[in-house]
Amino acid sequence: MSTATGNVSTPASSALYGRAQRVIPGGVNSPVRAMRQIGRDPIFVASGSGARVTDVDGNVYIDWVCSWGPLILGHANPRVLQAINRAAALGSSFGAPTEGEVLIAELVAERMPAVEMLRMTSSGTEASMSAIRLARAVTGREALLKFQGAYHGHVDGLLVQAGSGLATQGIPASPGVPAAVAQATIAIPWNDEDALAAALDAHQFAAVLVEAVPANMGVVPAKPGYLARLGAAARQNGVLFVVDEVITGFRVAPGGAQELYGLEPDLTILGKVIGGGLPAAAYGGRRELMSQIAPAGEVYQAGTLSGNPLAVAAGLATLEQLDQEAYRRLAELTERLAVGLREAAASAGLKLRVQSATGLLTPFFTGVEVTDYAGASACDQQSYAAFCRGLLARGVYPPASQFEAWFPSLAHSERDIELTVEAAGEVLAELAS
Ligand SMILES: *Cc1c(COP(=O)(O)O)cnc(C)c1O
Repeated sequence: MSTATGNVSTPASSALYGRAQRVIPGGVNSPVRAMRQIGRDPIFVASGSGARVTDVDGNVYIDWVCSWGPLILGHANPRVLQAINRAAALGSSFGAPTEGEVLIAELVAERMPAVEMLRMTSSGTEASMSAIRLARAVTGREALLKFQGAYHGHVDGLLVQAGSGLATQGIPASPGVPAAVAQATIAIPWNDEDALAAALDAHQFAAVLVEAVPANMGVVPAKPGYLARLGAAARQNGVLFVVDEVITGFRVAPGGAQELYGLEPDLTILGKVIGGGLPAAAYGGRRELMSQIAPAGEVYQAGTLSGNPLAVAAGLATLEQLDQEAYRRLAELTERLAVGLREAAASAGLKLRVQSATGLLTPFFTGVEVTDYAGASACDQQSYAAFCRGLLARGVYPPASQFEAWFPSLAHSERDIELTVEAAGEVLAELAS
């Protein structure tokens, strides 16, 4: 049993990291795991159970990352494990349709009326990529509108940065992204009405992509009414309204952010929770749109492991446990953690802005509300890094970037929050002195 105090040492992690760097770029299979943004080496995990992970050195941490969103029930949830084991015993993949795929599509359609049909993929990136292809096919347009600081997976055309100004032409955010592809994407500041109007005036977009609760610049919710106005403006301009619920889907409410905010997306992108910790994602929407996807229609998209039986079983076993009471509980836990962190910062005399939605939260090192990517970037990232290092040393595992969300799960207890807030209080007091 862990406590949230005491310094941890990680020789086995360091040894593995040394070996990993020789055979895996940066030693990791996804960049943020490397913990470079907080100036330390990654921690190699051996196992997880409930709200805890144990590293290869035997240190136990209260985990606020939870695989970056999928594990809304925590690690190794018994019912999810049982479902995976049962499915695995029946064979892991067939390349032929299975009953589970029908059940999960029906379940999603029930929870999200806007998703009349859906197609499964193995990652959120793939789902975004496919939704864009469909949007371009049905509108006959190529340009895309997105928001600065929003992430929709590492799709070429969505890996763009935009400079200042109201509506900036996208420039590649990574070498290897063709300039021509990036230029088809316009990125505007989040929560900015004028930029939105100007962009819609200036371009004929196939789609506007929006994270329903942006969480990849830290958690930066929409200003009241912004999402609804965005949806209405898209409709007026013949632009498909594509809501990325990879994080928010089945996390912020039973029917995701579209239920919470009363949105009617043309297309919805799902991932993370829908796979219950296994690789699964999906895109879906109105029947007449989704009917354009092959083999019903001509827009091609496929996947060897799409709708994989193990992933579908994990997803179903996860969704089945997410009833109204689960969301009430998750909201309460999130609020308790947010309040605790705010109070810890106040006691230490530090400015900390904690922004949250049900099941996700970011403590920003700033005194002002963060409403867009510029605001998130202006936060004191050095302090966030020191905060994370201090928490890790005390057995609390936060996301290693100011631009990510913490993910409370239903496996976290009031005691876990208490221990976390206690550790945070110590670290913040150190930072203040
Ligand atoms: C994680 C994420 C994605 C990409 O999903 P992957 O499964 O990592 O490819 C897309 N959109 C949002 C909002 C995400 O948080």
